Amino acid sequence: MDRSQEKIKELLYDFRRYFDQLKEEGVEYAETTHLPGTGERGTGSGGHSSAAVRLRSSRKQEGVLSSGERFRALVETILKCKKCGLASTRKCVVPGEGGNKRRVLFVGEGPGAEEDRLGRPFVGRSGQLLDKILASISLSRQDIYITNIVKCRPPGNRDPQADEVIACWPYLEEQIKLLKPRVIVTLGSPAAKTLLNTNTGIGMLRGRFHDYQGTPLLPTYHPAYLLRSYTLENRKKVWEDMKMLREFLDED
Ligand code: SF4
Repeated sequence: MDRSQEKIKELLYDFRRYFDQLKEEGVEYAETTHLPGTGERGTGSGGHSSAAVRLRSSRKQEGVLSSGERFRALVETILKCKKCGLASTRKCVVPGEGGNKRRVLFVGEGPGAEEDRLGRPFVGRSGQLLDKILASISLSRQDIYITNIVKCRPPGNRDPQADEVIACWPYLEEQIKLLKPRVIVTLGSPAAKTLLNTNTGIGMLRGRFHDYQGTPLLPTYHPAYLLRSYTLENRKKVWEDMKMLREFLDED
């Protein structure tokens, strides 16, 4: 073997090691514009004399994107969604919002009329009451992220139907994965039942922490229910739930 053949052999060996390493890192596809040493073209459209290699890797690209970028991409997808019948009656999609500084995720059932008009969650009378409830335990919208089980308004503020919840569920599931909340607070029966996969009513579920895939979940009444039944007893129950949330955040 002469010197030039040895050199080619070394180069091929280095190439092999390089591609093995890329494979281990998740690169699934390599495209060349010129196959080195063969004079043949690869799958590219080039015909350059150099061995220009373009690499594609779904895993690598996913890893490069920050969770913030992935979250923004998710919101873009939600805003365009037409997966269920609510798309035909909504004015705006309401993906959710909040500063998430304390990593507390609030989940309601669905946008109301005002939310549907503005594309923002909890901005009507329920939202104003929620702000007061948050303030009572020294939290603000900047501390939490708030969203709903379904991102489009069910007509007449009815509860979301099973097929709508099923269609919209992957968005909430992905939001939870990306936001990584320390604690989830569900507002009202549909949210608690959906996340806990139970038929038990909110009256039995509230007042204690449950578990959502390793994340503590605290169900409480929806502010809209409180507005409808603004009794001392109901307000006391919500206050007890919020005190539990405050204590959890102080201890955690
Ligand atoms: S409720 Fe959810 S699944 Fe249905 S159209 Fe709106 S975003 Fe899509």
